[in-house]
Parts: sequence; structure tokens; C-alpha cells
Amino acid sequence: MSFAFQQCLHPDCRSTFDVGQILTSCPTCGSLLDVNYDWNAIPVPARLADFEKRWSNRLNPVDYSGVWRFRELLRFATDEQIVTIGEGQTILQRNDLLARQCRMQPGTLFLQYEGQNPSGSFKDNGMTAASTHARMVGATMTACASTGNTSASLAIYAGVTGLFRCIVFIGSGKIAFGKLSQALDYGAKTIQIRGDFDDALARVRQLCEKHPIYLCNSVNPFRLEGQKTIMYRVLEGLGWQVPDWIVVPGGNLGNSSAFGKAFLELKMLGLIDRIPRLAIINAQGAATLDDFWNEQGLRWNEGRPDHDVMTARFHRMDQQNERASTLASAIEINRPVNLVKALRALQACDGIVRRVTDQEIIDCRARIAATGFGCEPASGATVAGVLRLREEGVISASDRVVCILTGHQLKDPDLTMAYHSGDAVLMGKKLTPAGVTQTPFANPPIVVDNSEAAIVSALGLN
Ligand SMILES: *Cc1c(COP(=O)(O)O)cnc(C)c1O
Ligand SMILES: [Zn+2]
Repeated sequence: MSFAFQQCLHPDCRSTFDVGQILTSCPTCGSLLDVNYDWNAIPVPARLADFEKRWSNRLNPVDYSGVWRFRELLRFATDEQIVTIGEGQTILQRNDLLARQCRMQPGTLFLQYEGQNPSGSFKDNGMTAASTHARMVGATMTACASTGNTSASLAIYAGVTGLFRCIVFIGSGKIAFGKLSQALDYGAKTIQIRGDFDDALARVRQLCEKHPIYLCNSVNPFRLEGQKTIMYRVLEGLGWQVPDWIVVPGGNLGNSSAFGKAFLELKMLGLIDRIPRLAIINAQGAATLDDFWNEQGLRWNEGRPDHDVMTARFHRMDQQNERASTLASAIEINRPVNLVKALRALQACDGIVRRVTDQEIIDCRARIAATGFGCEPASGATVAGVLRLREEGVISASDRVVCILTGHQLKDPDLTMAYHSGDAVLMGKKLTPAGVTQTPFANPPIVVDNSEAAIVSALGLN
């Protein structure tokens, strides 16, 4: 018997479907789907702190997993069905150096390092859930379109477990080599189409409808269930206290949507007494959400956001062939597939949206790396967002702020090297097209003759 069901998001539809069905939108009305639960039938622990006990049982894979440790909060599978590779062993790190740079008090700024997942990005939180569902429905072939990290994550689950063959579709744009090399290494059949992410996604959706292939993009509602657990671990890292702000980069808005759902459910279950505010940060060159939220006033509106506003904008984007462009390739998205769910999250979390430039993103990426474990460019948008919101006075010096660092520092070493070395070729290729002109936090290597005198001189020791 199952505690879970799929349910259409639209308030006039609300159709429900068995978890055994493979769906990426409502067959009745085309809206996005949620995975919902019969909470009365699930033995949810009385306090969030009760989940901690599982840490002492690390030989059991479902207790060891930072996702499935919280399994009563995403109970769509049985323990036996769960596909896990030890994801979610990620930490919340207090960073006072960065707090000072943001003119915040010590002990207020925290970084959640999701780059510490097996494939190096937060995507593993979702892919363990999607892979579990794929196994439940007997899928033997999985696929996704990706700007890089989704494919690396899907490929690692297919490769490590041997449960599925896996196909990944990437655009021919700026996929970071760290990510592409992972998909190839893990043995995914990799199709590079001439087009961008949005083109690749449209194509793979079409393919999955016509052939027995299981789609693992974030239109898959099960993926978002796994991503809820990032918020549980943040709360855990804060001793189960609720922070004031969660700051997250916005691409397809799967994370933002999952975070909102997580907090709505925790509040409804009485496991938290208030919901933090959510700040979603877009890149300037991929700011569809910012445009909708701040320029056009698009809102959740109890499940009835103004579709004319969305249709008009997407139509204009098509007409003018307007394409997202940012160095933060993980958030280079034209049409965020989880837009409507993200509007719900913004509503639930009294949220805000900002856009930051590529210059701000890559400078903040370097500043994070200089004071911590580092992250990839898209994640740098979070601290850029905090700096901006501090300037605006929206975040105060004593607010507790958690930035979600979505991907690992080593995902995009080309860009890091271009930044630090100021290499003309790398700069020309990677930095200048997006209007980046400076590298104030660069730490270039010093080239010297192989002589003691030259080294002593270069180090300023003479
Ligand atoms: C996928 C990804 C994002 C975007 O997340 P969404 O849930 O699509 O908004 C941001 N950063 C990194 C590193 C990613 O891999
Ligand atoms: Zn529907």
C-alpha cells in the first residue's frame, strides 16, 4: 500500500494519479504535478530532532543517505525500493569572513555545500528520488536534458547502480568540461544537439513520450521530493532553528520549488513554527523569473497565475529569438520549467527575486572560494544576491542567512583559471563576451626563472 499520490497543481483540476504512473504533467489539464501524501497514515516523528538518531546507524544505506534519513517526509517508496549511493552528506558551514564582507554580524552567514554530493552538485538529492521512482515503475532506460550537472548526476546513478541505461542530451553551448567529462566517464550515452538547454529539453520530452524512456528532468515531481531534504539538513545544521533567509540561484527553479514545498509541509505538520524568507537570484542574462516577478507583477494567485503574461513573454522570446546567456551556465535557462511551483514557493516564503550581473557572480564565486570550500559560478549568485540585498537594506546585519552552494568548485575549472590568470585567450573565450571587464579577486600564478634569487625576489623576501 502506498502513502503517496501524484496530484495536479491547478486548483480547478487537482486530479490525482497513482505513484506507479509515469507522468511529467497532468494528463487532464497539462499543469505541473506534485507528489502529495496521506500524512495521517505516515508515522512522521514528533520532532525534527528525532531524525538525528539515524546518524548512529550509518551501516544502513537508507539511514546513511542525507536524503532518505528523512524518508517519512518523502514516503513514496518502501525502504527496499530506494536507490541510494550515499548522497546528501553535505555540510552547513558558518562563514564569518564572508559575513564581514557582507557587513553582517559574526555567526549570521552560513553556506550549505551541496557540491559535496557524489557527483558534485545538489542534483543528486533529486536524482536518488527519481532513480527510486524509475526502479519502482520498472524503467530500464533513463534520460535527461542538461546544462551539465543533471547529466552528471543521472549518469552516476545509472553507472553505479547498473539499474538503467542512460542517455543525456546537452546543448552545444557552454557546458563546463568538469560536468561533461563526468557523463562520459560514468558511461552515459551523450547526445550533443545543435541548440541550447531549452531546445534539448523540448527534444528529450518528445522522445520520452514516444519511447519507453524515463525522464529525469525537474518536471519529474519525484526529483523535487528529494531536493526538499536540502532544507532539512540546513535546519539540522542550525540545531533545528529556522533561519531568516534562504538564498538560492534560480535556473529551472526546481530547488526553489522544492524548498517552498518542504517548508509548507513542515509547517503544516507542526515541525516548524515559522517559514524562512526565500531569495531567488537570477543571472542578468537569464532573468525570466526576475522579469515576471519584479517587472510584470506575476504572482501565484492561489494557483491561478496570469497565463497571458507568461504566454506573451515566451512568445516575444521566440519571436525575437531571445536566448539566455550567462557565464553561470547552470542557470542559463530561457523558460524555467518549474516557474509556477516557484511562484507558490515565493508566496509561501514571503520571497523576493533579484538579478545579478556575471561580473558580480564570478567575483563572488572567487570570494567564496577564498574563504571556504568553493563552488561553481551559478552558486556565486547567492552571495552576490546577499551583497545586493544588504545594500538595499532588505537583509539586515543580524539576519541569519543561508546560501545554497549548488555545485562544486571543480566543475568549471576553465572559468576559474580564466579569472585568476587573466589569460587573454581564456578571457576572450570565457569572460569578455558577457561584459565582464575586471578580475578584482584574481590570484594569478607568478612565473619566475628557476633560480633562488628570482624566487626570493618574487616572494618579496629580499
Ligand atoms: C541545476 C543547477 C542550478 C539551478 O537549479 P534549479 O533548480 O534548476 O533552479 C544552480 N546551480 C547549479 C550548480 C546547478 O547544477
Ligand atoms: Zn490538472
